[in-house]
Amino acid sequence: MNVDTESVVYSRLEKTANALRANNMEVFIVENRQKAMEKTEELLSEGDRIGLGGSVTLNECKITDLVRSKKYRFIDRYEAGLTAEQIRERHIEALSADVYITSSNAVTENGELYNVDGNGNRIAAIAYGPGKVIVVAGYNKITPDLKEAIMRVKRIAAPANVKRLKIDGYCSKTGECISCKTENSEMSDGCSGQGRICCDYLISGYQREKNRIKVILVAEKLGY
Ligand code: SF4
Repeated sequence: MNVDTESVVYSRLEKTANALRANNMEVFIVENRQKAMEKTEELLSEGDRIGLGGSVTLNECKITDLVRSKKYRFIDRYEAGLTAEQIRERHIEALSADVYITSSNAVTENGELYNVDGNGNRIAAIAYGPGKVIVVAGYNKITPDLKEAIMRVKRIAAPANVKRLKIDGYCSKTGECISCKTENSEMSDGCSGQGRICCDYLISGYQREKNRIKVILVAEKLGY
């Protein structure tokens, strides 16, 4: 596997950052996960009600630990013992949070965020509701365009997440979406059944509300 040189990494990050800024998102480029956590902390205010999208990236950056600080009011959907109905209520509460923090399944060099959900709670919060959305994404999430972003989810992100969630699905065994067997498959083609984690698709392009979405691009591999 080719590893990009530091200058290639930063030049792609800059290109992506400029395109996201042109789409009215605020962007920060940081060198590693520690700096990503510090930048996230800078963007938060004491007393903020915070919702979180499920994310390996946020765990790796210790942002999941950060939001548990007593300084903030974390809408904790991971609290032990919650019933399915209580988790649903926390998801709905997160839609009116002061801040929603998440990663992105892909970030294109054309300035788009691309996300796919099983339940839709995360993409709903990215699109509308929380006053501020902080997106933390590693260099590995950057794709040249939407076409590659769609394939990134089908070939990397979704199969890895299905495995992580211990779902007995097609892509957990083969490492890619069932739709990859078909030439020219469409974005929403895939498997069927309760184990499917790709159901709702969101492309965040130009934003009318300037800087509501704040993207922290990290110059290292994070999540998948
Ligand atoms: S649609 Fe199904 S097979 Fe395709 S990536 Fe998603 S979970 Fe895997």
